[in-house]
Amino acid sequence: MWNSSSACDLDYCEQGEQDPMGVLPSSAVPLAEVSASMATSSDVIHVCVALSVLYGLVRVIQRYGAYVFNEALTPEQRKDRPDDRLVTRIHGAYYDLSSFHHPGGPIAVSLIHRRDGTALFESHHPFVSRGMLTKILSKYEISKKAYLDGCTPLDPRDTGYYDWEGIDEDAFAQELRGHVNDYFRGIAKRKGITLNQAAKATPARWALIISLMACFFGTLPSFINGNWLFLFMSPVLAWVTAVNYVRSSVCVSLLYTIVHYSNSSSAPTRIIETVQWHDGLHFSLSTDWRVNAWLPYLFPYYSSPWLWYHEHVIGHHAYPNVAHKDPDLAHAPQLMREHGSIKWKPTHASQARWHRVLLVWSVALGIGLSLLNDAKANLKSSYNNVVPYSSLSRPRVIAHVLGRCVYVYMLHLWPFFTMPLWKALIWATVPGAMLSVCFMLNTQINHLSEACAHASSPNFYKHQAVTAQNFGNDNLFCYYFSGGLNYQIEHHLFPTVNHCHLPALSPGIKRICHKHGVPYNHATGYCEAFAAHFAHTKSMSVKPPC
Ligand SMILES: [Zn+2]
Repeated sequence: MWNSSSACDLDYCEQGEQDPMGVLPSSAVPLAEVSASMATSSDVIHVCVALSVLYGLVRVIQRYGAYVFNEALTPEQRKDRPDDRLVTRIHGAYYDLSSFHHPGGPIAVSLIHRRDGTALFESHHPFVSRGMLTKILSKYEISKKAYLDGCTPLDPRDTGYYDWEGIDEDAFAQELRGHVNDYFRGIAKRKGITLNQAAKATPARWALIISLMACFFGTLPSFINGNWLFLFMSPVLAWVTAVNYVRSSVCVSLLYTIVHYSNSSSAPTRIIETVQWHDGLHFSLSTDWRVNAWLPYLFPYYSSPWLWYHEHVIGHHAYPNVAHKDPDLAHAPQLMREHGSIKWKPTHASQARWHRVLLVWSVALGIGLSLLNDAKANLKSSYNNVVPYSSLSRPRVIAHVLGRCVYVYMLHLWPFFTMPLWKALIWATVPGAMLSVCFMLNTQINHLSEACAHASSPNFYKHQAVTAQNFGNDNLFCYYFSGGLNYQIEHHLFPTVNHCHLPALSPGIKRICHKHGVPYNHATGYCEAFAAHFAHTKSMSVKPPC
């Protein structure tokens, strides 16, 4: 009955006749309202279908994931696969970690397979005592011969870069670790939680994340319906939301944990616990490694998460601004020269022109990082020719390519199915370009300035400090628009600490840097940081003397 009367109202309003009940003030407005409510119902159906598909996907991955995602093999699964040993080198000693139940999960530990894992080992265990780490590792030590018999090292040049001799007694490293440990010990004691839990997102951070997520998803219907205002608003909100680590994670992690713990009596506790962890790609989103592993796949707009591990975690974070080690120095050497290790070409002479910078920045993320670099890494088994990359198994390649296809559809193809061609072209290019410019603005100014680009130290901790630049540390806009990336020095020293804690840690770290004569690079805000980056880009455009 309701449906038929609604249909009558529609016809009635379209004809512009009088409302017999005297309720409707005019003909056009009620029609729009009815249409809008119908669109909302269909949106709800779409969301339900998407969540059902997602639920099914989670179940399938739970059941068959080990056959595809080799990097996620557990020690039990490795037992049946003698060809899948997990070996590495840390501080010059060799280890077979195939049977080790790594608390951070199998993916985190798989990143050091067949390579020197010292830098990752150092930066990802700030809260575990040295004695405990040594004791655990000693159970898995093997000889160099056994290591070489079990694998071919991924990179023959991988002889380490830092001087680790005496790092345990190094005063700078000790004071930094002591400062961070003291800070989190206070929080842990007050809240009755572990140090590791204390370093994650606070309730205030989660409130911010949920608010941003609501704003972003709220703009999506208007964006998809072709509203011009939201063509510009949605990508900026997508950036702010993503960089503050929403990654659609809250609602989807709830779904995942409901699936995962549905049979557990402690399910509610685990759900609350799980959604409070942060940033899966630094292995610190959740205490459950599976959440860290697959959640980033739900917001893969920066890059495939698997490639991001190689580009960002293994390459850039371990060796910032180190020639032939940091892939961020070699993203597009034909177009931009940001480091002395990149061979100068005549095309670099004009790299500091603003329209050239804007053009490169607008395609760097969508075409460069997400597609071209990805394809090259898989074809050449090396990310940007500097981070060695194990070839993927055939099922893993298929899964990877499918993931990239979904990315291309969601970012660039869907408008062509719903909009006229001219408008579809705009919707398929402008949002991606805006997201890319936001990404480049907030990442290039952190390491590529005259002060940082060629700085270095054989001391791992000093190197992390001198190759990074903070900006706008007293400015809330800088903090929120960069998602805390404006505390780059602190982030590089302690990548597993949630960004919401970095402002509080910063003064102490700055003081320790000053005490030990380590430069603490800081720009007052975006303008000064961008000016420093631009001056560097300009100086690198000049042909070096032969
Ligand atoms: Zn990072």
